[in-house]
Amino acid sequence: MADYTKMWKSLGIDIENHNALLAGLGQAYTDIFLSQKNRPEGMKYFDFVMSEVHGLRIKEIVDAKAEGRKVIGSYCVFVPEELVLAVDGVAIGLCAGAELGFEAAEALLPRNTCSLIKSMFGFKLGKLCPYVESCDVIVGENTCDGKKKAYEIFRPLVKDLYVMDLPQTKSETGRMVLKEEYRKFIAKLEKESGKKITVQSLRKGIEIVNAKRKAMIRLAAVRAADPAPISGLDALLINQVFFHDDPVRFTDSVNKLCDELEQRVKDHKGVFPKGTTRVIVSGCPMAVPNWKLPMIIETSNAVIVGEESCVGERGTRWLTDIKGNTVEELLDAITDRYFNVDCAVFTPNPSRVSHVKDMVKKLHADGVIHYSLQFCQPYIIESGPVEKELEKSHIPTLRLETDYSQEDAGQLKTRIEAFNERLKKK
Ligand code: SF4
Ligand code: SF4
Repeated sequence: MADYTKMWKSLGIDIENHNALLAGLGQAYTDIFLSQKNRPEGMKYFDFVMSEVHGLRIKEIVDAKAEGRKVIGSYCVFVPEELVLAVDGVAIGLCAGAELGFEAAEALLPRNTCSLIKSMFGFKLGKLCPYVESCDVIVGENTCDGKKKAYEIFRPLVKDLYVMDLPQTKSETGRMVLKEEYRKFIAKLEKESGKKITVQSLRKGIEIVNAKRKAMIRLAAVRAADPAPISGLDALLINQVFFHDDPVRFTDSVNKLCDELEQRVKDHKGVFPKGTTRVIVSGCPMAVPNWKLPMIIETSNAVIVGEESCVGERGTRWLTDIKGNTVEELLDAITDRYFNVDCAVFTPNPSRVSHVKDMVKKLHADGVIHYSLQFCQPYIIESGPVEKELEKSHIPTLRLETDYSQEDAGQLKTRIEAFNERLKKK
């Protein structure tokens, strides 16, 4: 990587801590990703993206800002990238998946807050994330109580925090709330960018994001093959890069990779031997660089064949209907698309477990590992009924609760190995 110190300094990054972060990240990436066997050639693009994650991509964003484009960061898949693109903005997912700056975060938040929220504070307080520091606007959303209340404390720490309200029920009123919130978000984007959203600009935004999601749907489908043509770790990485790469280049790279994977399937080539135990991971999102659980699973004689998560199918599986002829009609289509997202903050939320069952069937999975972050009430509480429903359908399920630390790695491995034994006997 070139020397980006000047750029990082201009963004207010703490250079010493940031260098330590990059060194740790580089080592973890080598140990976890580059050590895998039989990786597809197409992963080279994603290796490059990761090697330049705080370098070249940030330079592109800084250059975009210099051209007058606005950078909009967000922490949730309910914030529509289509709308940001429609004002020629740059949309960046900011979710943080590392145990960094937690001491500073815990000075502002209760200790029993989920790692995702603590990490969001830790990266900001430690001046560690050039994405956060590049944002003109950061969008928060009233999803879980943790995030909702944390944004109140986060507001004075950032330049411009815009909080979007979200419904909690899949009712007609809920849909109206979502549409009105998207309408207000459009007004905010137009004010920030000085650009008016038109039918053409919105349609273009929808087309770009639809193409990106279509590529991810193609990637998800190819993982039904046995032997698995790609590891769960690599597929997760692509789902993580989804949130911060240039969308058109990303789509092209995923499609090229899928060409290769489809050929692998024809040639019966895979990353694990045919017959390896297959699992779906379902639950909380795994933000980059949270690779702990998949690494343990895939070094315990199992392969992950799908992620039912916002960094996974819950974030990518629906497309937006492009048929509308007015901004209002397209806004309706966007609202319909996002209203499908079955996050555990919704009550009740039956479509989520139905989707997990569909994934098990489609991807020929042997079982499900339910992943909750400690102190995440929506997913932990929902995991009980999800497990019950899956077991009732004869789908073995293992419920795990963990955080970003490595302390429980040994214990998790023991439980996962025991679960895999159960799956083998099925
Ligand atoms: S789990 Fe819920 S709150 Fe978190 S990113 Fe997904 S939709 Fe948003
Ligand atoms: S992991 Fe759970 S508690 Fe944490 S932000 Fe997401 S929904 Fe909220």
